[in-house]
Order: sequence, then C-alpha cells, then structure tokens
Amino acid sequence: IQVTDLVAESYKQIGETDSKIQAFVNLNEENAMETAKKLDAKNDSDKKGALFGLPIGLKDNIITKGFTTTCASKMLENFRPLHDATVVEKLNEADAVLIGKQNMDEFAMGSTTENSGFKQTKNPWNTDYVPGGSSGGSAAAVAAGQVYFSLGSDTGGSIRQPAAFCGVVGLKPTYGLVSRFGLVAFASSLDQIGTITKSVEDNAYLLQTIAGHDKCDATSVDVDLPNYVASLTGDVKGLKIGVPKEYLGEGVDEAVKASIKEALETLEKMGAVWEEVSLPHSKYAVASYYLLSSSEASANLARFDGVRYGYRSPNAKNLNDLYLDSRSEAFGDEVKRRIMLGTFALSSGYYDAYYKKAQQARTLIKEDFENVFEKYDVIIGPTSPTTAYKLGEVVDDPLKMYTRDILTIPVNLAGVPAISVPCGFSEGLPIGLQIIGKPFDEQTVYRVAHAYE
Ligand code: GLN
Repeated sequence: IQVTDLVAESYKQIGETDSKIQAFVNLNEENAMETAKKLDAKNDSDKKGALFGLPIGLKDNIITKGFTTTCASKMLENFRPLHDATVVEKLNEADAVLIGKQNMDEFAMGSTTENSGFKQTKNPWNTDYVPGGSSGGSAAAVAAGQVYFSLGSDTGGSIRQPAAFCGVVGLKPTYGLVSRFGLVAFASSLDQIGTITKSVEDNAYLLQTIAGHDKCDATSVDVDLPNYVASLTGDVKGLKIGVPKEYLGEGVDEAVKASIKEALETLEKMGAVWEEVSLPHSKYAVASYYLLSSSEASANLARFDGVRYGYRSPNAKNLNDLYLDSRSEAFGDEVKRRIMLGTFALSSGYYDAYYKKAQQARTLIKEDFENVFEKYDVIIGPTSPTTAYKLGEVVDDPLKMYTRDILTIPVNLAGVPAISVPCGFSEGLPIGLQIIGKPFDEQTVYRVAHAYE
C-alpha cells in the first residue's frame, strides 16, 4: 500500500463525512500529499519511522510551523506559529502525515466543543449529540474513520471524556511524561497532551512516539521510557483494582453503572480482583479545579493583548482600548467567564479564601490517590457520569457542565495517568471505562485496557 493512497483515502473520508461531523478546522491537504509522495519515494534501505505514512490529526491548540493554529478562537484565527510543538517534531521524525487541525472548545475550555469560535462538531454516532470536549474534533475524527490517530490535550478530562462519548480510546498521560512545549497553555499545572486512537495498541505506539524528556519544557520529567506495546500481554491475573464508591454514586446513570460493573466482572473472570475503595476528597475536585484552572488561565491568556499575537481591534484609539477592545471582540463568553473567575480568585483579599484553599484541596485529592495506590494497581470507574449530551443541553448552564467533569478532574489534579476505553452503549451512544494508574505507570494502564478491550 502506498502512503499517497492512505492519505488520499483519509481526505476522501473527510470529504464524505465532515460536512456533517465538522471535526476539522483546517486541512493540510497540499502539504500532506507532498509529504506522502516523499515517503513513497523512500527506498527499502532508507530509515522509516515508527508511524510511517499514518494519517494523523491534531487538536488545534498544538502549534504547527507555518500552519494555522487557532485554538478555535477568533483571537488566533490567522495565527501561523514560527515553530512546531515538540510532539509535532516527534511525529514528523516518525514519518506520520499531518492531515489537519481539529476543532475544540475555544482555548480548551469546555466539555462539548460547543464553545468553539468557528463550528459545532457533532457526535458521529448520532449527530444530535455533542462529541464531548474539549478535544471533540480529535475524538470525532478518529470515530468517523477520518484519521487513524489524533493528539488532544487534557486539562480536566478533555481527551478521556470525548473519547468516551465517541467510543474511542483516549489516554491522558502522567503529568510531565509528554512535553507541553508548543501546546497553547490553558492551565499549565494540569495540561497534558495525549493520544486518541481506535485501539489500545495503536494508542501505545502513538504514546511511545510522543513521550519523553524535553529540555524546552521545565515540567517535563526525565524518565526511562518503557516499551508500551510490549506491556500489552493480555494478562491481568492477580491484578488489584480499586473501585471508588464516589465514582458509582449519585448522579451516575444506571446504564453507565451497569456497564462498569459488567467490565469489572469481565476483568474478574480474567483473574483480576476488585474491591470498593474511597477517594473521600473527590467532592472538592470540581470547585478546586475550576478555581485553579481559571486562575492559571487568567495569567496564561494575558498574552493575547492585541499586540503580540492574533486579533487586533481596528477601532482602538489608545493602548488601553486596544487591549480592552481586542480581548472583548475576540474571546468567546466561556473564555471571558474563566478569565474573570481566575482574576477574582487571584486578587488580593480573595487569594487565601479561594486560590490557596483550592491548592490545599488539591493536595488532599492527590493524597487520596496515593493512599489507594499503596494497595491497588489501578483504579477503575466510569469516564463520565452519562453518555454524550444533546446539543445545547449543558452549554448555557456552565455549572451543570462543570459538575459533570467530576470523574475526570481528580486525575488531573493528582497528575496521574488515565485512559478511557469503550465498554458498552446506552441508547446507541458509547460508554467509557476509565482506568487510572500510578504516576508513570502507563504500562499497567495499557495492559488492563488492552486485556479488557
Ligand atoms: N471540561 C473541562 C473544562 O472546561 C476540561 C477541559 C480540558 O480538559 N481542557 O475546563
């Protein structure tokens, strides 16, 4: 098979499905075909990368040299970065082919992709429903067979939740495993780039390519990378699973609970053992996350001032108006809401009551995980309390949207890795099983996911 055929097939599939799904913001067709031709011209003796010729899509907050990176914001509608993100360099070295940039909630703020400044991505299983978010375009593109692989980012669930809603596999790696250099920052202490694929094996190959220490990211950790694919042994005998009672409680749909229990039975039959455990501080996770992530966002988004990047209001008469007008005109409502919340939480007089309290809660949440991981190899629960939302169901009610992140957010606060794998359907919509691991133990997470899959 020729790479040009594979890449052409990808664009053909996009041509047939994307008027409905709307997963892509910008396509890279000319460059991709050129790259494909170069790859086809390689001889048998030439070195070939681990992802040779494979079509891949990127969430549009991962920067690409000379190719528009919008974060689905009017602010960056025409922004062309001067260099590639580290993960993009790694994909290029691995001979993957970049098909295009994918739709998302503006600056990754949201859970439905309805906060995109450009378009509404639909769930490929039923286009009356959202694909989840914020990496909704990335998950929908894999589910719709438009690309084999996507990279997304996960600050509070943005890879795992859309993977669950779209019936694909999505991993949020341990904080620090994958370089964030070239990921447009939302909340730097929580953001992680991760992998969205159809199968666990594909996912392991993709992580192998993008993981590893990077001197350009001060929070990137220098660890020896294991061979992730080699850990897919199919064996879970004797594995100890903790199932947090907080993850199967009130607010979780009965159909979701039922398929998680079925998955646990399957793993039990394979020789794993599971017990109920408790993550008692989970109830503070949503409040803590939205204070911390908004605080960090308010600082990170200060750089979009109408001067350095992107949109500049044409009407401003002085410098203050230039800042004010550019930001007022280009940011969407959700982004403004977060900036205001974050600025408030960090302001003197409120800092101790909100930001500091949220940091303290974060520590307790992290310790909850450490306690459980003293006795258990992985933690299992649902990825999301429900299946995909109807279009419009939560977007106008931010609090409702925020609280539904309850099962993904603690993982980011603790910095641990977690994957979502499909585990059933309810009324035609996919359900996701979440497998959470110890820091830098993606191997065990993958092993369980693969054995179950
Ligand atoms: N839904 C969460 C939020 O709106 C998570 C977003 C993310 O992980 N990028 O902040």
